[in-house]
Amino acid sequence: MAFLWISLGSIATLCCAHSSRSWRSHPANEVTMLDSMSAFGDLGWVAYPPEGWEEISIMDERNTPMRTYQVCNVMEANQNNWLRTSWIPRDGAQRVYIEIKFTLRDCNSLPGVPGTCKETFNMYYYESNGKLWFIKESQYRKIDTIAADESFTHVDVGDRVMKLNTEVRGINNLSKKGFYLAFQDVGACIALVSVRVFYKRCPLTIRSLAQFQDTVTGGDSALVEVQGSCVNNSVELDSPKMYCNADGGWLVPIGRCACMAGYEEKDDSCQPCPPGFYKAAASDPSCSKCPPHSSSQREGSTECRCESGFYRAARDPKAMACTKPPSAPENPISTINETSITIDWRSPRDGGGRGDVFYNVHCHRCLGEWRECSPCGGRVRYIPRQLGLIHPRILVTDLLPHTNYTFDIEALSGISELGPIPRQFISVKVTTSQADIVAIGDPDQATMLAVSVSGGIIILLFLVVCFVVSRRHCGYIKAKQDPDEEKMHFQHRRVKLPGSRTYIHPHTYEDPNQAVHDFAKEIDASCIRIERVIGAGEFGEVCSGRLMLASNKEICVAIKSLKAGYSEKQRCDFLSEASIMGQFEHPNIIRLEGVVTTCKPVMIITEFMENGSLDSFLKKHDGQFAVIQLVGMLRGIASGMKYLSDMNYVHRDLAARNILVNSSLVCKVSDFGLSRVLEDDPEAAYTTRGGKIPIRWTAPEAIAYLKFTSASDAWSYGIVMWEVISYGERPYWEMSNQDVIKAIDEGYRLPPPMDCPVVLHQLMLDCWQKSRSDRPKFGQIVTILDKLIRCPSSLEQLSNSSSWQDSSMQEAFGVTTLEEWLKAIKMTQYQDNFTAAGYVTLDAVMHLNNSELNKMGITQVSQQKKILGSIQSLHVHGSQVHV
Ligand code: AMP
Repeated sequence: MAFLWISLGSIATLCCAHSSRSWRSHPANEVTMLDSMSAFGDLGWVAYPPEGWEEISIMDERNTPMRTYQVCNVMEANQNNWLRTSWIPRDGAQRVYIEIKFTLRDCNSLPGVPGTCKETFNMYYYESNGKLWFIKESQYRKIDTIAADESFTHVDVGDRVMKLNTEVRGINNLSKKGFYLAFQDVGACIALVSVRVFYKRCPLTIRSLAQFQDTVTGGDSALVEVQGSCVNNSVELDSPKMYCNADGGWLVPIGRCACMAGYEEKDDSCQPCPPGFYKAAASDPSCSKCPPHSSSQREGSTECRCESGFYRAARDPKAMACTKPPSAPENPISTINETSITIDWRSPRDGGGRGDVFYNVHCHRCLGEWRECSPCGGRVRYIPRQLGLIHPRILVTDLLPHTNYTFDIEALSGISELGPIPRQFISVKVTTSQADIVAIGDPDQATMLAVSVSGGIIILLFLVVCFVVSRRHCGYIKAKQDPDEEKMHFQHRRVKLPGSRTYIHPHTYEDPNQAVHDFAKEIDASCIRIERVIGAGEFGEVCSGRLMLASNKEICVAIKSLKAGYSEKQRCDFLSEASIMGQFEHPNIIRLEGVVTTCKPVMIITEFMENGSLDSFLKKHDGQFAVIQLVGMLRGIASGMKYLSDMNYVHRDLAARNILVNSSLVCKVSDFGLSRVLEDDPEAAYTTRGGKIPIRWTAPEAIAYLKFTSASDAWSYGIVMWEVISYGERPYWEMSNQDVIKAIDEGYRLPPPMDCPVVLHQLMLDCWQKSRSDRPKFGQIVTILDKLIRCPSSLEQLSNSSSWQDSSMQEAFGVTTLEEWLKAIKMTQYQDNFTAAGYVTLDAVMHLNNSELNKMGITQVSQQKKILGSIQSLHVHGSQVHV
C-alpha cells in the first residue's frame, strides 16, 4: 500500500504546482460558501472509520500547505468510508453548487488489486438548522455517484499520466439554515483535491435607468422576479421589472424609468441639462437647445425663457420658438353697397413667427367729421363674425345710411394677450354712401389724417403709396433673382434676407447627423404605434400610426421607415428629408413631427394626411368638386411654394403626386429628399428619385442646363394647375418625353383641360413662359388666386375650343383612320361604341362633345376628358402631339 500513498501524494503536489489556487478566481456572479483550498489550517472535517479518508497537507506553488483528503483501501473488500464537511450556512441561497476536483486511480493500473476495487464514490448532503455531532448514514440524501469522466486534466507523474477531474453538482430547494456534505468511498483510490460550494446571484445592475439589486437565484430553475428602482433624478414611466435566472443572468427587462424634466441620460445616470439647453418632460429623450428667441441660464432647466419682446402662449410647445405679436394688417380695400360694407385686407407683413394669426374688427359710428365716435352696438351684423376672423375679409351689414363709420382691424395671434397694449391695427373710415381707406397705425393719427384731407386726395395718396410699395416689392424680388445671389443660395450659405429665414442645405454640415439633430426632434420609438401600411417610399414602407405627445395626447401620423440593409449614404439621404422638412413651418408644407434615429428602424414621422397624394385623390373624385374648391387647393399649394421660395428653397419636383391632401382638403407640399438632381454633380444631372428628371413637370432651362430656381418651380406649378383642373390627367398624355421636350421647344403648351376657366389657363400659360423672368412669382400667383376666390364670377368664362378647329388633323397627327387614332390614345375598347354610333372616319370625331360621348356609352369622366383632350390637341398642334 505504501507505494499508493506516495504516488497520490506526489500527484496532489504536482497538480497544485500546475494550477492550484488560481482555481479560486471564479465568475463574478458566484458566491463561494466553502472552499477547501482557501483553508490553510485543519479543515476539521469528520472522517470515519479512522482507517478510511485521511487528511493530507500538500504544498502549492508558493509552498503554502493546503488540505486534501485521500483514501485508497483497494486491497480490502467491503469498504464504507465516510468524510463529512463542516456545517455550511445556507446564506439565503436556495440552490447551491458543489464543484469537486479529484483524481481517481483506474483499478487496472494497480497491480494485484482484487475485483472489489471501485472507480466511483458517492456524494450526499444533510440539511439542518445548526451543527450536529452525529448524522446517521441513512439520514443523508444522495446527490450523485461520481465517476472520473472525460473532463480531466492530464498530470504527469514519473512515467504515468494521472487525470484531474472536475465535477459540478447542484442541490435544489434548500430551506434550513445550513447543511453538511458527505463523501462515501466504497473501495476506490481517490484524492479529493478541492471542494468548493457556491451559489449564484444576479449582480447589481442598471437597465433603462432602473437599478436592480444583487439577487440570489431561485431554488430550482424558476426565475426570480425583481422590482427595479429608478436612479436619482429619474421617474418611473412604467414599473421596471426584471427576472434573475438560475445561472445568475438577468432576463426580460420590462418597464422603464426616464430622466425627469431638466435631466438627460448619461452613462446609466441622469445629468442636468447644461445652460442653453432644456428638457420639458421626462418622456423627452434628451436635452434640446433652447429654441430661437429664448435662453436658459442655469443647469437642469425644464424650459427656456423668452427674450424680452417675445412670448410663448400657454398652449405653445416648449420646443417652439418664442414669438411676437403680428404687425398690423395692411392694404385694406373696402366696398360699400348702400348700408353694407365689405372690407378686404392683406395679412400682416410680420406674422411674428406664428401661423395662428386672426383678426378682430371694431366698429365705431362717428358724428360729424369722425370726431365723436362710439361703438356701433348690437344692431350691426358681421359676416362671418366680428372677432376671431381667420380670413382677411369681413362683410358688415345693417349700417345706418349716410353715416360715418370707423372700422379698426386688429391682427392678433396666440400670444397677443401677453404682448404690449395698444395693439397694432389699421383703421378704415367710411361713409355709408362712399368708402375711403384712410390710414394705417395709431387711430388718433389716422383720424387727424382723415380730418384734414379730402377723400379724393386720400385715394390718390393711397395709390401712390401702393405704387411705391409695389415697386419696392418688385425690386426686392428682382434682387432675389440676381445671379450672384442665386449662386450664393446654391452654395447654401446662410444668406439672411431682411425679414426672411433662409433654408440651410443639410450638405452645409460636415456631419449630416448634426443637421438632423438641429432640425428634427428625436422621438422615443415607444411613443409610436404603427397601424397599417399606406404606401411605398423610395427607402421603405410608409405607414400610418399614432404618436403619443408629451401632453399625453395622441395624434395620427405617417411613419416612413428606412428598410434594413441600408448603407450610411442611404441613411443620410433618407434623413436629409427630415433635416429639410424640419426647417419649414407653414400650413401648406407637410409638418415634421420628428425622427427616430437612436434605434432601428430609422423613421421619419410627419403629420398624417388622410386623403393621401393629390394626383390619386383627384382621380378618385373625378369631376366632383366646384371649380372654386379646386382653386382653393391651388391657392394652398401656391402659398406653400411662396413660403419655400421666400426661404430660398427650390423644390425641383413639384407635381400633384408630391402634394398631400388632408381631411379638410388642405393641400401640403411634400417630398423634400436630397436624392434628386444635384447641381454640382454633372454625373447626377439626369437622375432623380425616380431615375430621371420629371420631364413633363420641369422647365426647359432646368432640363437643358439644370437651371433650377423658384422660377422653374413656377413652371412645375403651372403643370400642377393643369393636373388639378383635369382631375389628375397625365400631362401631355401618352407623348414620349423626347416629344414633350421637342414640342415645348417649338412653342407647344398644354391646352386648357375640360371646363377650365380662361383665367386659370392664362395663369398656366404665364407659368410656362419660355423666359423664366417672365413667369409670375409665387407671391403673385397667391394674390391672383385670392382675387379669383373673392370674385368667383371671374371663373365663369370657360376656355372654348372653337379657335382650335382649323387644322388638318390627319396629316398633322400622322394617323389616318379612326382605328389608328383609338389605338394611339389607348381607347380601342371603345371601337364598337364608335362604330355603333356611326363614327367610322376620323373626320367625324372632330366635333365630338361630352353629351355625344355619354350617348355612345362612354360615361367615365376621365375617359371622356382623355378623348376630348386628344381631339383638342389634334386640332391645335397636330403632328407635334403624338397622343
Ligand atoms: P413618399 O415616399 O413621400 O413618396 O410617400 C409614398 C406614399 O406614401 C405617398 O404617395 C402617399 O400615398 C403616402 N404618404 C406619404 N406621406 C404621407 C402622409 N404624411 N400622410 C399620408 N400619406 C402619406
